Amino acid sequence: MKITDVKATIIHASRSYVASAGLETPVPKKAPTESRVLTSDYASRRHICIYPQGVQTTLVQISTDEGITGIGESHAPIAPQVSKAIIDGILADVIVGQDPLEIDVLWEKMYSTMRLRGHSTGFMTEAISGVDIALWDTFGKATNLPVYKLLGGAFRDKIKAYASGLPGATSEQRIENAKKFIHERGFTAIKMSIGRGSLEEEIYNIAAVSDAVSDEAYLLVDAHGAYDAYTAINLGRELEKLHVYWLEDALPPEDDMGYKMLSDTLDLAIAAGETECNRYQFRDRLNSRAIDIILPDICRAGGISECRKIAMFADSYNIPWAAHVSMGSPVHIAASLHLAAATPNFLICECPSGENPIGNNLLKEPIVCEDGYFEIPQGPGLGVEFDEEELDKVIVDDS
Ligand SMILES: [Mg+2]
Repeated sequence: MKITDVKATIIHASRSYVASAGLETPVPKKAPTESRVLTSDYASRRHICIYPQGVQTTLVQISTDEGITGIGESHAPIAPQVSKAIIDGILADVIVGQDPLEIDVLWEKMYSTMRLRGHSTGFMTEAISGVDIALWDTFGKATNLPVYKLLGGAFRDKIKAYASGLPGATSEQRIENAKKFIHERGFTAIKMSIGRGSLEEEIYNIAAVSDAVSDEAYLLVDAHGAYDAYTAINLGRELEKLHVYWLEDALPPEDDMGYKMLSDTLDLAIAAGETECNRYQFRDRLNSRAIDIILPDICRAGGISECRKIAMFADSYNIPWAAHVSMGSPVHIAASLHLAAATPNFLICECPSGENPIGNNLLKEPIVCEDGYFEIPQGPGLGVEFDEEELDKVIVDDS
């Protein structure tokens, strides 16, 4: 079998990404006077990344001379046109005419194209991710097997998920939404976003939600890299009292020594890794034992092939991985679920909690998430099939 074409297509739909992900600045509220944590405007010091107006991603389709097509996704919020340009301008030349089943060989060829020029992370690996996932989908369809079987089989028959992004501008709204996640959708873990208000306000808001739901669900906190190590240690001590399970991205990703200080000092789990894009970056994090849980994103960190290597490398340290999944197409979730099924040290999968206009509505059969667990798609390949009519409605560039 030979690859005859690689096509990158940008899809986009309107929706408030920021509000749906609980990323709005919280309404200021008087914090408890006994708090010992400094009040400071961290958002102005270390600003978190920007978010798109709407939901967007780049889909990748591989065609073959046997009529089999595979689908993948390069998740590149804000600039999906960049991954499209890399696929069209660099990666297509490398893989067209090649055997799509030689996935590792093709991955190394794609990675090598720009490696010595310093392009070995970020947009480059996001673009490679989309092609890699499409290759695995092609492999599955060619063998009539789901991807998790090709990866060695399933360690579990359903995938535990957490509700990510707790919407609401006030504590009352957040508590109401958290209770809905627990009682209506069966989630037993929920993630809150911080890093925009003063630390006192953030802790006060977390305490309100924790008081309301910590008997029923684990609370995870994502700080989006907003703090320095000293502040994060003080924050972490407060979060431990509030029974927070993990503190995610407490520091900017470059602060290796700070992460080491955090993991040595705090008892709650230190989670990070959505910013890391290849096995070499994860190797350095794991070697220093600075993270307790790694969070690779399958549509950013090189696809199924590279994330499998990353997961296995983490397993050699007896460290679990959790799937980072932000708002994108169902391909992102499906690829994550197959790798989650097929790796022994998988912990939990992120489930963007809001309605997604480029989500299940684009599929013939939806990906099911019920009672806090995803079902693993069982069809050949990734096991997802787009409804072409619905997909057409969100395509903005298929040139
Ligand atoms: Mg995060």
